[in-house]
Amino acid sequence: MTDRPSDEIDSAGNVANHPHSAPGIQTSCPICSGPVELFCTKRAQDHDWKINRCLSCGHGFVANRPSLSDLTFANEDISLVHELGSFTREAYEGRSDARDLADSMARLTKVRGRALDIGAGDGSFSYHLGRHGYQPTLLDLDPRAQQATSFIPGSQFRQVPFESLDDPGPFAAILMSQVLEHALDPMDWLQRSRDLLQPGGLLVIAVPNFGGVYRVLGTNDPFLIPPVHVNFFTPKSLRRAIETAGMRVTHMDSRSGVPVGGGIKAVVRRAWNAGSVLLNATTQGIVLRAFASSMTDQNGLVSKQACNQFT
Ligand SMILES: [Zn+2]
Repeated sequence: MTDRPSDEIDSAGNVANHPHSAPGIQTSCPICSGPVELFCTKRAQDHDWKINRCLSCGHGFVANRPSLSDLTFANEDISLVHELGSFTREAYEGRSDARDLADSMARLTKVRGRALDIGAGDGSFSYHLGRHGYQPTLLDLDPRAQQATSFIPGSQFRQVPFESLDDPGPFAAILMSQVLEHALDPMDWLQRSRDLLQPGGLLVIAVPNFGGVYRVLGTNDPFLIPPVHVNFFTPKSLRRAIETAGMRVTHMDSRSGVPVGGGIKAVVRRAWNAGSVLLNATTQGIVLRAFASSMTDQNGLVSKQACNQFT
């Protein structure tokens, strides 16, 4: 563990003691410090949110960072957008994205033990981590997430923000699926993760890809929804952020499947899903995935075979 000043989120939503959370308009890239340009301005909740894009790493970010009250308001929207599942074994078994992610993790490392699922939601990812022998701690601000623990042996639930977690770890795996785009200070989250990982442990991140196929949509990218999302990672900026936080990227890829639903568009979506598997091994898909380990890897705990296969 490293020494770290205690963190408090002030009324402006800025995390004290962290340079990445300076108040006011942020005019350089929070990931690589490179120069930025205005990408677009979007209006939501009676605010104009300026989205800047880094000219060096392509990272996008809301330049006028929201306040905590903005985020609280936005989180109410999130609970509508991300409907929690029905907390049944059948629903968990049907979550192919969660199964796929846990399978990928299991291929990359033989290390098992405690896992931390940040923003656990309905617990689908923790359920599949449990199937692979991890004991997950589910972190979520929504108390309903606790229901998932009855399906996952050895699991526990904590209703606290990651910034306030007092669990010293260590964790064999830390999972951030579709949450880092919400973090007011993503570098702080990554540094905390580095400190909580055990040697050979794996940090797994899935975020909307600001550098993938959705680039063709420009400002109509459906993930550009400030202030619900405040960080827009590209493959380059996500790798840079992980490395700056003191970890090593073991593997990156992407996923592009979309819900099929019903109606006439279902045919188009099925066709898209069939073709989009070609993107999986690339970093050009809709959802960018990164797998990282601490620099202090010991005893080859991360499978060398997997590293050779992917790097
Ligand atoms: Zn940058």
